[in-house]
Amino acid sequence: MSAEFHRCPLCATVLEIHTGIWKRLWPFGVRETTCRSCRHTVAIRDARVMGQSFAYWAAELRQHLLNAVKKLPNLPREEALNAMSRGLTNEQTRNIATSESLAHFVVQMCRPIIADQAHGRTAHVEVMILEERGKPVAVGVLGKTSAESGDKDTELLLARIGTDQYLVHLPLKLLGRVQEAQRAQRGEKALRG
Ligand SMILES: [Zn+2]
Repeated sequence: MSAEFHRCPLCATVLEIHTGIWKRLWPFGVRETTCRSCRHTVAIRDARVMGQSFAYWAAELRQHLLNAVKKLPNLPREEALNAMSRGLTNEQTRNIATSESLAHFVVQMCRPIIADQAHGRTAHVEVMILEERGKPVAVGVLGKTSAESGDKDTELLLARIGTDQYLVHLPLKLLGRVQEAQRAQRGEKALRG
């Protein structure tokens, strides 16, 4: 997962660069390639920098997510659904086995945000533990791309239903579960403070 790839600086697609043969034919090496996704010509040097930067931000998100998920209790399916959002049905979620696959899925869903971060733009993604009566029940991920990328929101909710089994919900529109949790935490701090 932490492997660094060459990535297109424009769309963050992984680029396959076959430098072996070309190096032999042309000692200066290949300097440019075409992204198969956005069809732009990109400099290999830029693709390497993008790949490294993307890997850094993806690893950050992955780590935050895995740390949060570790704190989740093992819930019966019905409770897990309600912990993510009241009245949520099974059909609105997907099952993911293993926290590794879960982290991979979340990184994929947050790819435009990570690409923005890799470009040094103002984009952010937050991982929050959602609590009920002071106990962790679910995890919320909330992110926003930069203004340059259209201020697009991504929200994901997840809960644990087995030792290493998870339910994930991608709401069609923002539920605001993460903001809710943030407000609750701020409120608690204000009360304590
Ligand atoms: Zn591209």
